[in-house]
Amino acid sequence: MHLPYVEPVFRPPSEAYSLILQVTNGCSWNNCTFCEMYTQPQKQFRFKSQEDIEKELAAVVSSGAPVRRIFLADGDAMTLSFRRLKLIMQAINRYFPDIQRVSSYCLPRNLKNKTVAELAELNALGLSLFYVGCESGDDLVLERVNKGENFDTSLAALQKIKAAGAKSSVMILNGMGGKKYSEQHAVNSARLMSAAQPEYLATLVVSFPTGVERYQQGFGGEFEPLDQAGLFQEMYWLLDNLELEKTIFRSDHASNYLVLKGVLGKDKPRLLATVKAALDQPGSVRLRQEWMRGL
Ligand code: SF4
Repeated sequence: MHLPYVEPVFRPPSEAYSLILQVTNGCSWNNCTFCEMYTQPQKQFRFKSQEDIEKELAAVVSSGAPVRRIFLADGDAMTLSFRRLKLIMQAINRYFPDIQRVSSYCLPRNLKNKTVAELAELNALGLSLFYVGCESGDDLVLERVNKGENFDTSLAALQKIKAAGAKSSVMILNGMGGKKYSEQHAVNSARLMSAAQPEYLATLVVSFPTGVERYQQGFGGEFEPLDQAGLFQEMYWLLDNLELEKTIFRSDHASNYLVLKGVLGKDKPRLLATVKAALDQPGSVRLRQEWMRGL
């Protein structure tokens, strides 16, 4: 089944078997200094018309491809108005009455002009999971990377999602503050997560596939990347400060040196022990080799 995608298209790893429905192109913010996902000219932000979206849904139905889950692309489809999102969800339900789950990336600012009641209505139509790239809970680090969000805006969005009965999957970027801000990045990210209690939490190691210059500018030239031991120490601070009740935690993306999985808080002692072992005796835990970290 070939849909008319504007490439490149990104999706979270857990949406590998979902239909990717590109209801917007690019990211309406597109300013984070660590993100190169939507910087090519063809990825300039725009909405797709309802007519085109419905044509694609009809084409998928007539192809006979089984669809149980749908991911709304690209970078922040939730920037669409409630009215547009409702129309899209109603169409999805018409074409796929048995749809199990619809999800989307979501920037905190995307939810500012949506009420809990509106999100609850979308949730009832199946839009029930939001991938929120908080990246950090530290205001200074967020400012340095030009995220356009802070602790309070991130928390407000995550609380809105929860109040609407939907779920959130949060991403925190390990190494994002460099050496200087590593500890405050970890501690404040943990504080944000503990306040928000997301259903899922994942970490990735920040990387710069096309060079670190733009990122370095945001830090006034004082960004010093963390080495492996520094990344482990930061992970230790993060885990140690997390006070979660029932959050599925994954730190297993290809960019991570150390694979950590568990349910927090239950598995916190085990995960901390693993990170401590990696810190104290690097040979004692199974680490990915440098060449395996390819993104
Ligand atoms: S909001 Fe997300 S997609 Fe947009 S620039 Fe930032 S990291 Fe990239």
